[in-house]
Amino acid sequence: MYLSKLRIFGFKSFANKVEVNFPKNGLTAVVGPNGCGKSNIIDAIRWVMGEQSAKTLRSSKMEDVIFSGTTSRPPMNMAEVSLVIDNEEGVLKGGYSQIMITRQAFRNGDSNYLLNNQPCRLKDIQHLFYDTGMGAASYSLMEAKMIDSILNEKDDERRLLFEEASGISKYKKQRAETKRQLERTT
Ligand code: ATP
Repeated sequence: MYLSKLRIFGFKSFANKVEVNFPKNGLTAVVGPNGCGKSNIIDAIRWVMGEQSAKTLRSSKMEDVIFSGTTSRPPMNMAEVSLVIDNEEGVLKGGYSQIMITRQAFRNGDSNYLLNNQPCRLKDIQHLFYDTGMGAASYSLMEAKMIDSILNEKDDERRLLFEEASGISKYKKQRAETKRQLERTT
C-alpha cells in the first residue's frame, strides 16, 4: 500500500487545483521557503483521512481550512482534498486495487466524505485505516511534536503509538463503541 496521488483544491493556501504525484519508487521531498505551504500538504493528508481537531491542523476552527482569500483573490466556499492509495496488496479491506478517499467542507458547515466517489461516513474512512499504520492520528504522519511525545515521559501518549503499531487499536475502538451502544440501550 502506498500513497500515489494527492489532489488539493480550496484547502488552506491552495486556491488553484494542485495534484501531487508520489512515484512508487524513490522518495518525494517538498522543498520551499518558510511559509510557502509545505506543512499545508501534510495537513491536507491528515484532513482527508478524517482529522477532527482543528488544532491539530494548526487552525482555530475547522472552517479555517478553507482558502480565506488574498488581496487579489476572493475567499472560496469549499475545500476539497482527495487522496489516491495504491492498494494492490489488499492491505485496505474492500477489494479495490486503488482507493480514492475525498473530503469536502463548506463554509456553511456542511461536509462530505467519499470513498471511490461514493458518499460514505467519516466512520467508514476511519475503519478503512484502523491498524494499517495510516490514518489521521497514526504514526505514519510524524511531526516534530509527535516525536517529542515518543521521547518524553508521558507513557499514555507513547502507548497510543505502540497500540496503533501493534494492531490492537481497532479492537479497543470497537469495544468502546459497543460499550456506548450498550449504555444507550439500557
Ligand atoms: P514553515 O516552513 O514555516 O513550516 P510552510 O512552508 O510549511 O512553513 P505552511 O505553514 O504550510 O508553510 O503554510 C502557511 C501559509 O499558508 C501561510 O502563508 C498562510 O497564510 C497560508 N494559509 C493557511 N491557511 C490558509 C487559508 N485558509 N487560506 C489562505 N491561506 C492560508
